[in-house]
Amino acid sequence: AGEREQLEFQAETRQLLDLMIHSVYSNKDSFLRELVSNASDALDKLRLAAFQDKDLDADTADLHIEIAVDTDARTLTVRDNGVGMSRDEVVDLIGTLAKSGTAELRRKLKEAKDAAASEELIGQFGIGFYSTFMVADKVTLLTRKAGAEQATRWESSGEATYTIETVDGAPQGTSVTLHLKPADAEDHLHDYTAEWKIRELVKRYSDFIAWPIRMEVERRTPATDDEPETVTVETQTLNSMKALWAKSKDEVTAEEYTEFYRHVAHAWDEPLETIPMKAEGTFEYQALLFIPQHAPFDLFMRDGKTGVHLYVKRVFIMDDADELLPEYLRFVKGVVDAQDLSLNVSREILQQDRQIRAIRRRLTKKVLTTIKDIQASRPDDYRTLWSEFGRALKEGLIADTDNRDVLLQISSFPSTESAEEQTTLAEYVARMREGQKQIYYAAGESRQLLENSPHLEAFKAKGLEVLLLTDPVDEVWTAQVPEFDGLTFQSVAKGEVDLDTDEDKKAAETEREERDKEFADLLGWMAGILGEHVKSVRLSTRLTTSPACIVGDDFSMSPALERMYRASGQ
Ligand code: ADP
Ligand code: MG
Repeated sequence: AGEREQLEFQAETRQLLDLMIHSVYSNKDSFLRELVSNASDALDKLRLAAFQDKDLDADTADLHIEIAVDTDARTLTVRDNGVGMSRDEVVDLIGTLAKSGTAELRRKLKEAKDAAASEELIGQFGIGFYSTFMVADKVTLLTRKAGAEQATRWESSGEATYTIETVDGAPQGTSVTLHLKPADAEDHLHDYTAEWKIRELVKRYSDFIAWPIRMEVERRTPATDDEPETVTVETQTLNSMKALWAKSKDEVTAEEYTEFYRHVAHAWDEPLETIPMKAEGTFEYQALLFIPQHAPFDLFMRDGKTGVHLYVKRVFIMDDADELLPEYLRFVKGVVDAQDLSLNVSREILQQDRQIRAIRRRLTKKVLTTIKDIQASRPDDYRTLWSEFGRALKEGLIADTDNRDVLLQISSFPSTESAEEQTTLAEYVARMREGQKQIYYAAGESRQLLENSPHLEAFKAKGLEVLLLTDPVDEVWTAQVPEFDGLTFQSVAKGEVDLDTDEDKKAAETEREERDKEFADLLGWMAGILGEHVKSVRLSTRLTTSPACIVGDDFSMSPALERMYRASGQ
């Protein structure tokens, strides 16, 4: 055996552990789901690795998960014979919280109002393994990577440090042993050494796991007149292993869907919407998609994760299969099980595959129509959905011209109509003034800046509604989307804005000509002074109280877009 090293947790990890140890969460039970979920992932990975590398010296004969309890020692062990981890992987994956969102999580935890809010946050940031410290005062992990000779033993009591050593003679895979906190004699509901408790937790949280979850249980046959009591030990499989996506909707309960969502999305909350799909015919597949209630912290990070896992005939192939949904739907989680793909399929092949492209089109349409249904029938859920994912969905206005119409229909925007409520384009159109031929918008950094902008004055004065767009992506889609419902989008800061009816216009024209004459000297003088900095100096119809403003050409970049391009070095 190698030397035993003592290493320190990073400050961030320590804070999270501290939070777990002193956790007041009601839902301590969920540690078991996290361990089983990790074990299941490890088995998926091993099957795939063995399939891709025929020379891998791995034992794949009886892949399973095992739960063992020692009542006297008060330990609970979850064991798998999956892919395992190398020593470096243990340090990276278990010893540190390498995830980029840690700082963000800490900031949000500070802001969290109550335990429920913290619990939700922890779910979003996925610190699965550490949840063991809610119930254990010491955790031992023993792991041997498939194909490797030596194993690694990791141990921590969840305080400042952990120990790690290289050991011999461990079986392939990983076992995690929890040294349970002292029992609370009153609290039978949280006795994790009780068989019934483990049965219940597996059934509730992990029934669909595709690998057998086994436990040794004692069978007692009561004494009869002739025979004394007998106790035999037998191994039972606790889960049904049914793939939820292969079942029809009415065979599955909402709780089962929720637990499955938590497993695939690594989440703790409930899905906002569950979307089961089934296609028969040329391309046969089943899909089970979820729209979460919360955006993940990395939704707008470059290497943020996508969320649909690919299976082929029930066999896990890969997580985050980018080809199954367009990037702007990266917040959607779930699985797709395709019947006719090769188990060998690689990410490169996926990009070319006709079947995958057909599936992607169908899934995209289905997700968008589902959002449209939510918008029509569940306004509160729609508002949640839009505030969490609207910014991502608006990227679709640029990227996905095929679905632009429905994307425009499901979008909503802040506007001058209301300080609190956003408006859909259809609602905007319904409120339009007679003779209005365009949808007006102002784009900039904040609502406040836009509201104080001189460009809005004439619109305010005439009672015309203006969309107030403050996301960087707004600058881009408004420049690319030609129209909604036959109406073009017009920036209040660009070009000639036509606010008047035809008669108004004739009158204004005459007046303007007169005023142009009147001010010709002033305009000429100003143009001379401003010189190259401007294209021309004109009298304005758009101002009512400010003396002057700068406007762009119809085709020029707005100041915000200029800033965006400059920031990205273009
Ligand atoms: P997550 O599962 O969301 O990645 P966890 O904290 O549950 O986060 O686990 C961290 C990582 O540790 C996993 O991604 C995996 O790489 C590794 N890991 C955890 N448990 C196991 C296991 N039983 N076998 C192999 N690797 C594991
Ligand atoms: Mg996990």
